[in-house]
Amino acid sequence: MSELRSAFHQLAVPGVQTLHPYEPGKPMDELQREYGLTDIIKLASNENPRGPGEKALAAAREAMADAHRYPDGNGFRLKQALATHHGVAPETITLGNGSNDVLALVASTFLGPGREAVFSEHAFAVYPIVTSAAGATASVAPALGSDSGMPFGHDLDAMRARVTDATRVVFVANPNNPTGTWLGRRELKAFVQSLPDHVIVVIDEAYCEYSDSPQQPDATEWLSAFPNLVVTRTFSKVHGLAGFRVGYSIAHPAVAELFNRVRQPFNVSTSAQAAAEAALADTDYVRESVAMNNEQREWLRGELEQLGLDVLPSAANFLCVRVGDAGAVYEGLLRAGVIVRPVAGYGLPEWIRVTVGLPDENRRFLDALTGLVGRRA
Ligand SMILES: *Cc1c(COP(=O)(O)O)cnc(C)c1O
Repeated sequence: MSELRSAFHQLAVPGVQTLHPYEPGKPMDELQREYGLTDIIKLASNENPRGPGEKALAAAREAMADAHRYPDGNGFRLKQALATHHGVAPETITLGNGSNDVLALVASTFLGPGREAVFSEHAFAVYPIVTSAAGATASVAPALGSDSGMPFGHDLDAMRARVTDATRVVFVANPNNPTGTWLGRRELKAFVQSLPDHVIVVIDEAYCEYSDSPQQPDATEWLSAFPNLVVTRTFSKVHGLAGFRVGYSIAHPAVAELFNRVRQPFNVSTSAQAAAEAALADTDYVRESVAMNNEQREWLRGELEQLGLDVLPSAANFLCVRVGDAGAVYEGLLRAGVIVRPVAGYGLPEWIRVTVGLPDENRRFLDALTGLVGRRA
């Protein structure tokens, strides 16, 4: 077995040999099987705890009647709706099987052996994966220090300093996962402006809807000024459709045309396209989700700080919390039926990331955590 394993390992392309696979949040079914628990809450994958919106679900159900047909490979209706929503041309949009798919399209289009991708320490785990899978080199910039105003956030000067003639892609997550940290409009725009023409800059705005700061940029506004800018968005987070897998990028039409060459022709299912179109139109659902999240997030932050724990600034739907022995706390929470995310793989061994849930879920997480980390102050 291990001989075969090493034989196949040798056969794999170098980027796959060294690749560390993505570690998803533990599925609820798995915890149920392993621990025999039935009453489980999952606060591990930054999903919308309210469930999918009724309108999105109804649209998906209706679309299922066409399940014997291939999906619209050009995503005509969804692209039209997104174009209107963002005030851009449909040709600028590339749909993906989640925005993860779009990030992989960026890598297969612009990265390869001898090329480099720049991203920050503690940034989203998909950037190193798609970089390595494409056979390119990851150039990881140190993050801001723990004593910075944005602890563990992206250090744009450090990222800029790593850009070389071999750099083809820079990945920026704003807000970032798993830290929750964010970049302001002025600094981020200056960074994009400072990049040479041979660099594609990806601004991943998976959580941008949650921000209530006027300083938080909407990078789609800069697309006409910077042809090398690619903005990615997703329906997995605030829109509550993670299971459907729909994300997209907005980019210069010439860049989108390149993505289309490598994209699988039917990468977004019929039901997913229909659900996403309805979700985009359901602005009430988004607004209510953001309001509940932001209120609960700040409540949870206050309670965690009362426990004497450090909590990173967050403009998203999760908090990164320093708990010390994160492995033990993660295990302890699992035994209490609460799934959170350990983030040692992101270079944060003493921290856990918890998704803001429904009020009852947050209370239950907090009670379980209190039992593990000691008494309240
Ligand atoms: C969750 C997340 C995504 C979205 O992933 P999907 O493939 O669209 O589900 C993208 N970027 C970041 C930073 C994320 O946390």
